[in-house]
Amino acid sequence: MSKPKLSKRIGLIQPSLTIGISAKAKELRSQGVSVTNFAAGEPDFDTPDNIKYAAIKSIVKGNTKYTPAGGTNELKDAVVEKEKRKNGLKYKRENVCISVGAKHALFNIASVMLDEGDEIIIPSPYWVTYEAIASYVGAKPVIVKTEEKNGFVPKIEELEKAITEKTKMIIINNPSNPTGATYSEDELKEIAKLAEKHDIWIISDEIYEDIVFDGYKPVSIATLSDYARERTLVVNGVSKTYSMTGWRIGYTCGDRDVIAAMSKLQSQSTTNPTSIAQDAAIEALLGPQDSVERMRVAFEQRRTYIVKALNEIEGITCHNPKGAFYVFPNISAFFGRKINGEEIKNSMDFATKLLETEHVALVPGIAFGADEFVRISFATSMKEIEEGIERLKQFVSKLS
Ligand SMILES: *Cc1c(COP(=O)(O)O)cnc(C)c1O
Repeated sequence: MSKPKLSKRIGLIQPSLTIGISAKAKELRSQGVSVTNFAAGEPDFDTPDNIKYAAIKSIVKGNTKYTPAGGTNELKDAVVEKEKRKNGLKYKRENVCISVGAKHALFNIASVMLDEGDEIIIPSPYWVTYEAIASYVGAKPVIVKTEEKNGFVPKIEELEKAITEKTKMIIINNPSNPTGATYSEDELKEIAKLAEKHDIWIISDEIYEDIVFDGYKPVSIATLSDYARERTLVVNGVSKTYSMTGWRIGYTCGDRDVIAAMSKLQSQSTTNPTSIAQDAAIEALLGPQDSVERMRVAFEQRRTYIVKALNEIEGITCHNPKGAFYVFPNISAFFGRKINGEEIKNSMDFATKLLETEHVALVPGIAFGADEFVRISFATSMKEIEEGIERLKQFVSKLS
């Protein structure tokens, strides 16, 4: 039999490289190899108990049937409450759509907002999914490069240069995956002004808003002007803040017509996000918040340790991130060097050789459109971080 003839559309996207490397590391582990995993894209903590018990209660109560496609009123109300408390944003139920994770929310936004040929501006290094989703719906991702020396925040002139009459939206991820870049209020105000001047929509991915360091307090761009309030789609979820990646609950807040369109799409595709997980998310958003601070403090300690340790390795420079749980060191000084006679030409070679020889898994920067870097996730224990740094030092010392 010949191979199936798949749609052109599915040929437009690549599988997530992040997930690919994690799988390879898991495979090595299953063979008994001790692998240090710096590739994780999720918190290493368990979901807090109060949230787990809320889910159990939900099952026992019998909340095990379909809910409205765009989420339950109770969870929408919890989101409204949380956005008011945290960001001072005033939404109504009709401004909220609950999806199967923030990734699903982004996919649905792209599906209901972007036509073939529409352009979406994505600052790079970027979370790969943004580009994949835009391509999948036939839109054109327009990549605007940022620089390490500017803290990986795009320059307003560079953003403006990328705007054409086809530009429909810009995506801002603050704090950012993979760089940990954080935007100041002034930088966000400038972006809001630029969006208004050219009448473009803003997608604000705020999934890391609670994982912030050195006193940095993110503001939502949606609060920074009347235009931004109307034309920003705020995307968030419970995956990162509450260590709930497997529960699959994300949400979008914004214009009610966009929200209605997203709910309509869900009604004909996924139907509702899991009823039980929605109840658990209510507890996450409205219940005690002390676990959030506990995890944040642990991330901050690890961040401080790892940035210092990396910068002490000759040849590596590492920007100090003020948010998320990744560092994005520049490893390009090793390009042209060899290990076991084989040359390291790019970030993929670096990541592959490091995994093969020292059993450290991390993600090559090319996966985020930045080949001079690698992404190290510190969503793992201090002990594993120390071990990984030792192995990385070993690796670098073996390069000729
Ligand atoms: C993890 C992540 C998300 C979404 O995660 P979900 O589990 O789908 O809610 C969104 N944006 C970025 C940048 C992320 O890293």
